[in-house]
Amino acid sequence: MYKHILIAVDFTEDDRLIEGRAVKMHEFTQAKLSLIHVIEPMPSIYGDSYGVYMQPEVNLNEKATSMLKPIAERLHIPAVNIATPSGNVSHEIIDYSDENNVDLILMGSHGRHGLRLLLGSTANAVLHHAKCDVLTVRVSD
Ligand code: AMP
Repeated sequence: MYKHILIAVDFTEDDRLIEGRAVKMHEFTQAKLSLIHVIEPMPSIYGDSYGVYMQPEVNLNEKATSMLKPIAERLHIPAVNIATPSGNVSHEIIDYSDENNVDLILMGSHGRHGLRLLLGSTANAVLHHAKCDVLTVRVSD
């Protein structure tokens, strides 16, 4: 059974669905849970989610950490299991998974990068390259 589940969130409303699935998977497996949000290099994409569009004084790492906090609290995830790396989203998710013995990645089927697709680009890339299982939560479009 799964021992370490990584939950990838992008600060869209779909995170609630992913969170719900994480609760169920945790009940079922008692696995350790970790939480990741990858900070992308293009600050403009954070206009919607962080509300900090083009504000260079805002520290995106601190902002992301504070936005992950309520999710982590609801899921009882300690700070040590929360990651906010910067870079390419799928690469960072996979690197974290490889380095931390993650055996299940939990993510949305599509979100910000894949609104019109059956499978978003992040989910697609992670599914192609992850060495562990990936559960993509079907989100409505
Ligand atoms: P997308 O590729 O944008 O359609 O997103 C699909 C899923 O990938 C989302 O529901 C999240 O689970 C995950 N995801 C997208 N962007 C990020 C991000 N910056 N950090 C962590 N996970 C992400």
